[in-house]
Formats: sequence, structure tokens, C-alpha cells
Amino acid sequence: MTSSVMEDVVIVGGGPAGLSVLAALKNSPKTRHLKCTLVEASDLTNVRDFYDNPGENYTNRVVSVTPKSVEFMKSRIGNWDYMKEDRVKFYDRIVAYDSQDNDNARIDFDAGSTESGVLAAMIENINIQSSLLKKIEEINDTEGTTVLDKTKVEDIISPIQQSLEDHDLNEIDPNAGNADLDWPIVKLSNGDIIQTRLLIGADGYNSPVRKFARIESRGWQYNRFGVVGTLKMEYEDYRSVGWQRFLTTGPLAILPLTEDNATMVWSSTPKLSEILLKTNKEIFPHLVNAATVLDEADLNYIYKLLDYNPDDMAVIDEIKWRLEKFDQQNLEENYPLKVVEVLDGSRARFPLKLSHADTYIAPRIALIGDAAHTIHPLAGQGLNMGQSDVAALMTALESGIDRGMDIGSTLVLDSYVANSWPSNHMLLGICDKLHKVFATDYYPVVALRGLGLKSLNVLESFKDIMVKIISAR
Ligand SMILES: Cc1cc2nc3c(=O)[nH]c(=O)nc-3n(C[C@H](O)[C@H](O)[C@H](O)COP(=O)(O)OP(=O)(O)OC[C@H]3O[C@@H](n4cnc5c(N)ncnc54)[C@H](O)[C@@H]3O)c2cc1C
Repeated sequence: MTSSVMEDVVIVGGGPAGLSVLAALKNSPKTRHLKCTLVEASDLTNVRDFYDNPGENYTNRVVSVTPKSVEFMKSRIGNWDYMKEDRVKFYDRIVAYDSQDNDNARIDFDAGSTESGVLAAMIENINIQSSLLKKIEEINDTEGTTVLDKTKVEDIISPIQQSLEDHDLNEIDPNAGNADLDWPIVKLSNGDIIQTRLLIGADGYNSPVRKFARIESRGWQYNRFGVVGTLKMEYEDYRSVGWQRFLTTGPLAILPLTEDNATMVWSSTPKLSEILLKTNKEIFPHLVNAATVLDEADLNYIYKLLDYNPDDMAVIDEIKWRLEKFDQQNLEENYPLKVVEVLDGSRARFPLKLSHADTYIAPRIALIGDAAHTIHPLAGQGLNMGQSDVAALMTALESGIDRGMDIGSTLVLDSYVANSWPSNHMLLGICDKLHKVFATDYYPVVALRGLGLKSLNVLESFKDIMVKIISAR
């Protein structure tokens, strides 16, 4: 006979979304009494250790966090006090430009029209997770909060399903009388069984919770990888600008970190991503510099050389003499600074995809973060959408508690999905279209988008709207 425990909330997943919702639940006077368990399959030791020993170098997973998310972390979750602020870089401009347009069509977003005066903050994922974990530990609710890492959710069943399968429910919990409850039963790899009033799936793209709830998720793979890396620039960039060059293989983003550091997300075809990962580390900075300026015919030639021999040092000269042909003052003023180094072991690639669940709720279930939606990283919105989910879910739960309702009921959860699904859907659509429009070298589209970028750059009202979208999720 196996014993089980009863919880108010079980959160599956200790990524940014899962830790955010746990910290928010424990920080709110209305929900802190709830008994909560978070279950995370991976080892959170690195995350825990980061607070006392963040290490010298930036890690390679860095996200662009909007002022709205920053404000949410400060005022509602309360984890900002535990953030390593000396590793947070605010920036106030994004310059986006197109590799296919000879007149160098570009659009320059600045934070002038925002309340906060900044567009976003670059923060390492581990800094966010570590501050959340520290916040949860500082609340010190030992009775009501459990964080189980290195523990996998192996199965989720509903009592109805259980009885259909002709199991004796009393086998699960002889004491709690839970045979009468419709609460989901969660089986863990450590042998524990938890029956929960509300199950929150913060368990990423392949969400087992979403599958258990039989919620359909629609979308596609982009057949692209996001190659990330930590870069050293030739000096500290006083401009605080994020750069994004749209190549037909996918956008290359170079985003500022403190001092002479920067981070890169280079969306690329599977073949190009392999080349980017295997290119010799002495050549790689030159390759990034080339990709911010050279036209695609030259780039394709260089990729070919590197595919054939990733250690071919002659490629450096191939790049240098091409770059020397450009007006150097224009390069200095209107393009990213030169990259001089890529940190060892910082290059990695992630498959890019779009997915959106048909709904985020089912009876006693709520999905948040990547479990609910996965977005192309070109506008840096994935984690921010997860923060908005947590804010909307918290509002729904607090309002349910105010009315004396059961937090697992769809009557309470309905307002969460109503407040988050439509805006997430719009953002997913915008980023998908941007990816598709820029990933072609079909001339009529190239000409139109060049015209578009040039005219949109002078259309302040359009830019204000885009800045609000970029900075306000
Ligand atoms: C290249 C790249 C760049 C990006 N840049 C940005 C950006 O600039 N700005 C931005 O906002 N977003 C960005 N994103 C998106 C952002 O990283 C994600 O949206 C965010 O990390 C998702 O967090 P999450 O907590 O929802 O999911 P995850 O981080 O995927 O966490 C899910 C967790 O669930 C756990 N889990 C899964 N199954 C189980 C199980 N059975 N039992 C226990 N635990 C389980 C996993 O171990 C994992 O830790 C980027 C993404 C990529 C790939």
C-alpha cells in the first residue's frame, strides 16, 4: 500500500515560469496559506549556488526582459531584491536592419515613448531562477512549501480514470478519503504520490501536464536553430543598443551585457547552425562581424569554406579584406561593435518552434509559460509571456479566494485564460509573420520589406506601437 499527501497546488517544472508562480503564490497575502509543492526533474544545485557564487563569466542563456516583467518581479513576486543587479543590463534602443536591401533599410526603436525610459533588461536565466529560489527560501514557509528537484513527475492520473481502470482508490490513500475527490493524482520518481486541488503545468514545450489534460497544442517547427553564445566586444558599448540583422537564414541578434560583454542569438538553418558550432573559436568572432555587415553571397561563400574546414585560418583574411572595403566610420557609428572573442563552451543551439495550446485550463489544471506557448525568439518574448501568464493566473486565484471559491474550479480559472490567451495569440502571430517575411530572398518581398522598413522608420506612431509591444508584455 502506497501513502499519498494532499496539496493545494502542485507545480510541475522549476524553470522561470514554475519558480515565478511558486514565489508569487508565497508572496501574496491572499494565497500564501496554500500548501504548495514544486517538482523539477533536473538538479537545481547550480541555480541555488549562483546566489553566493555567480562566477566570473556570463552564462549563455540570457533573455531580454521587458520593463513590465521587471516591475512584476519587483512588486508582485518580490524576487528582484535577490537578483544580481550588477549582471543586469538595461538597454534603450534596438536597431533592426535587413541583409537583402542595398540601401540598408533599417528601423530604429528607442525607448523615448515608454514610461520607464528603457526597452528591456538583459538578464541570465540562471540569475532569474536563482533570485526566485532565494525568495522562496527566504519566505521560509517550511510547512507549506516544498521544492523537490532531481524528481520527475512520472505519471498523472485522475481518480475517474483510476476507477475506470478498476483500481482500488484506497490503495492510493487509505486515510485521506480522497476517492470522492476529482483532484489529479501525481506520481513522482521518488515514489511519492500527491493528490492536488490545482495542478500547474510549467513543464515546458513537451508538457506532461498538458498531455494529461488532453489539451491540444498546435504549431510547427521552423526548421531553424537558435545558436547562442557569450561574446567579448572590443570595448564597452556606451550606446546600450540591441542589434538585429535579418538574414535569410534567420535573424542575428547581438544584445548588450555589462562592460565589454554581449550575448548572441543567431537563428540559422540546421546546416548553418552546425557550421557555427564547429567553427574554430579564433575564427568565430570574425564570422559574427562578417554576418553583421557583408551581403549574403559573401557570407555563403565563407560558410562554405568553414563547412569544408572549420579550422581554416585563411578565412580570417577573407573576411578582413571584405570588411575593409566598407566606410569604417559608418561601421563604427551604425553597426554593432566588433566582436573579439567567444567564450569557451558558450556556443549551443536550440530548435525553434511555434506552439499554442487551444486553452490553458481544464478542471483543476492550469498551463503557464512554454507549456502553454512557444514562440520564435526574434522579439525576445517567450519568458515575458510566461511572466504575464503568472500575473493573470495570480489575479484569477486571488479573486477566487476572495469569493470563497475552490481554486481548482474552472469558474476561477476561466478568467486566467480569457485574460492571457488572446494577447499571447496575437504576439505569436506577429513574431511568426516577421520570421516568414524576413526569411525570404524572393525579390518582390525583399523590395516591399525594404520600403516598409524605410517608411516605418519615419512613422513615429507605428514605432511607438511596436515599442509598446516589445517592452510592455
Ligand atoms: C535561443 C532562445 C532565446 C530566447 N530569448 C528570449 C528572450 O530574449 N526573452 C524572452 O522572454 N524569452 C526568450 N526565450 C524563451 C525563454 O527562454 C522561454 O520562454 C522560457 O525559458 C520558458 O520557461 P518555462 O519555465 O516556461 O519552461 P522551461 O524553461 O522549459 O522549464 C520547464 C521545466 O519543466 C521541467 N519538467 C519537464 N517535464 C517534467 C517532469 N515530467 N517532471 C518534472 N519536471 C519536468 C524541465 O526540467 C524544465 O526545467 C528564448 C528561447 C530561446 C530558445
